[in-house]
Amino acid sequence: EPYIPKYVEVNYIEGSNDKKWSSVNFPWTKKLEANNKKVFGNHSFRPNQREVINATMSGYDVFVLMPTGGGKSLTYQLPALICPGITLVISPLVSLIQDQIMHLLQANIPAAYLSANMEWTEQQEILRELSSDHFKYRLLYVTPEKIAKSDVLLRHLESLHARELLARIVIDEAHCVSQWGHDFRPDYQGLGILKQKFQNTPVLALTATATASVKEDVVQALGLVNCIVFRQSFNRPNLLYSVIPKTKKCIDDIDKFIKDNHFDECGIIYCLSRMDCEKVAEKLQECGHKAAFYHGSMDPTQRAFVQKQWSKDEINIICATVAFGMGINKPDVRFVIHHSLPKSIEGYHQECGRAGRDGQRSSCVLYYSYSDYIRVKHMISQGGIEQSPFPSGSNRVNIANSGRILETNTENLLRMVSYCENDVDCRRLLQLIHFGEKFDSANCKKTCDNCLKIKSFIEKDVTDVTKQLVELVKSTRQQFSSSHILEVYRGSLSQFVKKHRHETLSLHGAGKHLAKGEASRILRHLVTEDFLVEDVKKSDIYGSVSSVLKVNEYKAKNLFLGGKTIILRFPSPVKASKLSKSEVAPAKGSLISGKLSPQIDSPAQPQPEVDLNLS
Ligand code: ADP
Ligand code: MG
Ligand code: ZN
Repeated sequence: EPYIPKYVEVNYIEGSNDKKWSSVNFPWTKKLEANNKKVFGNHSFRPNQREVINATMSGYDVFVLMPTGGGKSLTYQLPALICPGITLVISPLVSLIQDQIMHLLQANIPAAYLSANMEWTEQQEILRELSSDHFKYRLLYVTPEKIAKSDVLLRHLESLHARELLARIVIDEAHCVSQWGHDFRPDYQGLGILKQKFQNTPVLALTATATASVKEDVVQALGLVNCIVFRQSFNRPNLLYSVIPKTKKCIDDIDKFIKDNHFDECGIIYCLSRMDCEKVAEKLQECGHKAAFYHGSMDPTQRAFVQKQWSKDEINIICATVAFGMGINKPDVRFVIHHSLPKSIEGYHQECGRAGRDGQRSSCVLYYSYSDYIRVKHMISQGGIEQSPFPSGSNRVNIANSGRILETNTENLLRMVSYCENDVDCRRLLQLIHFGEKFDSANCKKTCDNCLKIKSFIEKDVTDVTKQLVELVKSTRQQFSSSHILEVYRGSLSQFVKKHRHETLSLHGAGKHLAKGEASRILRHLVTEDFLVEDVKKSDIYGSVSSVLKVNEYKAKNLFLGGKTIILRFPSPVKASKLSKSEVAPAKGSLISGKLSPQIDSPAQPQPEVDLNLS
């Protein structure tokens, strides 16, 4: 059944900039500080923790957007400890709940959980305890399906509420409410019932990932009306971002990059497949680095051993799939390198986030080739991609509609492609837009490759070019790759293109005034904006796949109906060509060695055939 939230007018109150919430004069301040130290063993509060606690304890509905590891749990566990009554926490995963309860019990905070796969007698025991007026529990954790399916639980909550013993309702991982999020869980949508039933009970919704539309969805579905929003910037000023064209000698480039910039320092190289991890580690060992690999096929003791060696600096480079990363708190990771395309911007941001926890400058370098896109896309469609265990992977979602997940995954991947293809806009801006955060690229201060090289840019109306490209794809009967289309469009006279020339006569060479990089950026824009679709064609003879461009008739129609103009930003050609080597090549120890020349005329075109021989 499709999800149509009842739209309510929401009054958001930005809490982050309101000094009121940082006050140390709330009636509970002393208790708060004492318990934070004594029970939780923390010396101080992390950014926004005090503010969120003060707002929720003042009785408001609060929406918290805080990066993973920022310390969201404390913002409800500490109030749970000092407010009368019980705090109800909705959390998506039993394993996560069990982990939290273990920590709470270790700190002597009585807590319980209810889940569908628990013994009924055990559940009854807990519910019976809650019927007493002097129950011992401070927190009750439940999975969302419990709320959706258990009338017994709802009746107990009503009784608690009637006795004024329902202190607070916490929705952890609140982005699971939204279909736009990467972790959609249908049972989260039913949680609106809580606010309907318990209007005066404060709700605290927490997440590490919410675009503007996800936030809107969450607030609507939960029925929050006057909602204080606390968000902190996801920008990491000490991380330097760059994207580099990936060539056949990528590993040599990585070797050189590390030797030039981070010799003997600690880093992570994220690889797509298990085989890649082993290959990259082996090559780097040959180059004299202390490297090891880490992936899901290794047995747990082996994995733990490698991780320990790395933590103790016996190994400084770890070549890993995204399975590596959870719970890693090594502060001095100086570089995160992506050997292939990450599968979403959220994932990329999180993986990069493992660098520079100590606040020192660290590098995030992504080696990008369009053929990796085809490879990742194929792996996603086969379900063969190794996922991070939690929290960025959509592997947590197990709903019938897997087609929709595939669509979301593909869309996320396309956003990542467009991020890599973009050689104009600030990398920080591009990442932060994704988290619903506006960023002024002047604040980047040339700490990303695009800001470093671009002096000025011009906007061009490329509507006519886009129309021609769509026409061209149509007239070649939608059976050629993007690189072929580009060759034809720019008037190449290669044998293959000549052979098919009769089919494309009128548009052959229509785009010869464009630089190759410009034409390809426009074409990719058409793909990322869904006017054209990349289809994967598997060749039976060689077992390899190639990509074929097709027209999305539905969307493309709008392009020709008129009224739609497409504008793209390009580096100003005059300024770009003036860019001298010395301006481009960074000083020692800065962003990247050597590779920053503008890509506009780079021959970075994909090989149409991609080897999919993965482990
Ligand atoms: P999130 O849910 O935002 O990902 P957690 O609540 O799991 O983060 O907290 C991450 C880690 O930070 C935990 O190990 C927690 O003990 C620690 N932590 C939280 N708040 C503080 C604090 N004020 N001081 C020190 N450590 C903290
Ligand atoms: Mg958490
Ligand atoms: Zn920038």
